[in-house]
Parts: sequence; structure tokens; C-alpha cells
Amino acid sequence: MDFAQLRKRMVDEQIIPRGIKDRKVIEAFYKVERHLFVPQEFLSASYADCPLSIGCGQTISQPYMAALMTELLELTGKETVLEIGTGSGYQTAILARLAKEVYSIERIEQIKNNAEKLLNQLGYKNIKIISADGTLGWPDKDARFDRIIITAASPEIPNPLLKQLKAGGKIVLPLGDSLGQMLTVAEIDAQGSIKRQNICGCVFVPLVGKYGWDN
Ligand code: SAH
Repeated sequence: MDFAQLRKRMVDEQIIPRGIKDRKVIEAFYKVERHLFVPQEFLSASYADCPLSIGCGQTISQPYMAALMTELLELTGKETVLEIGTGSGYQTAILARLAKEVYSIERIEQIKNNAEKLLNQLGYKNIKIISADGTLGWPDKDARFDRIIITAASPEIPNPLLKQLKAGGKIVLPLGDSLGQMLTVAEIDAQGSIKRQNICGCVFVPLVGKYGWDN
């Protein structure tokens, strides 16, 4: 299989025509080898226009959705980003190319271990992954982030995460239940007030945790 060609087609046919414009985001999607992040049995569908199963009932997001969420974060390369829901690690790799550093939390230990091993093998040095309930935020109470991305469906913005967002920071997440969600961007200003913007409908696996959904 010519993965390089499939990857170029993914960007040229699924990502650019749907309106992703940020050149750096587009470059990252040309570069990161998505087929390394999907299980062997789905290799031939690695660059298809859909989410794929990664085991334990979880999924790697549709490429366009990952690109849209990345673009909405408006990364310049200087940001410290917190990701909740490492999953395959694909989105993590994309973020690591566009931000200064990425902290990522995955609830399921086996999934976290797989992603961590792969990202290490690929040479990413600015990623730190832990296995925990990400709705509680990064375990260091004093941690503050420029951007937060949640890649699982959340009933509300988990309060501990809001507290770890810097003034002027931004959080991108799907808000809603297992039937469907609204991709939402929330910005927090210097006074701490939150401005929300609805982007589009989407479907993610549930965020399971104290400030998420029950298991
Ligand atoms: N961005 C990932 C999407 C993974 S699916 C990718 O493209 O591969 C969402 C992930 O969120 C799942 O792996 C699930 O286990 C994880 N998750 C769900 N609730 C969580 C929580 N409270 N804390 C951390 N991870 C969580």
C-alpha cells in the first residue's frame, strides 16, 4: 500500500476542501503517518474518512475532525497544551508538531501504554502522557495550560480543567451525551468570564470520569 499517496489524498480530499486553512495544520496532517496509529486489521482503512476502532471500545477520530479541532486551538508553537483522551496518540503527535509541549491524559492504561511507546519510537520529545481520570485535570495542582482539548464527549466543561486554563486560554471539546454532541470552543478572558462558540455537531465516545459521564 502506498501510504504516502493515501495520506496526501486524505489531506487534499477530506481536509482542505472542507475548509481547513491553517498551513501548519495542513503540513502536520501531510506528515504524521496515521497508519502507524491504527490496529493492524484496519491498516487498509488508515486514511479513510471515518473514525476507526483502536480496541477497548475506543476510537481514533475521523481525520477531518482531528484537523478541525487542531485548527480551532489556533496554535502558534509557543503553547503548552493539555489533551484529555490520548487514544491512539495520533492527535497527540499532531499537537506536538504545532505546540511547545503536550501533556496528555488517558483513562485506560493499556491504551496509554501503546500510545506512549509509539510516540517514543517516533522520537517525540515534547509529550508527556499519564494514565488517570483527565476530568480531574493534570495532577500537579499548579499546572496551567494555554490550550485544552478533550477528545471525548463531555456533559459539561469539567471544572478542574477550567481552573487549569490560563487567562486568554481556549478549550475545544465535544459537549453532549452518547447520542451526539456539539463541538464547542470556550475562551476564558482575563476576568475569568467564558465565551462559548458552537462549531458543528459531532460524535465521540464518552468522557468517563468524576466530571464526565458514569462508566
Ligand atoms: N484523540 C484520540 C481519540 C481517542 S477516543 C485519537 O484520535 O486517537 C477518546 C479517548 O478518551 C479514549 O481512549 C478514552 O479511553 C479516553 N477517555 C475517556 N474518558 C477519559 C477521562 N476521563 N480521562 C482520560 N481519558 C479518557
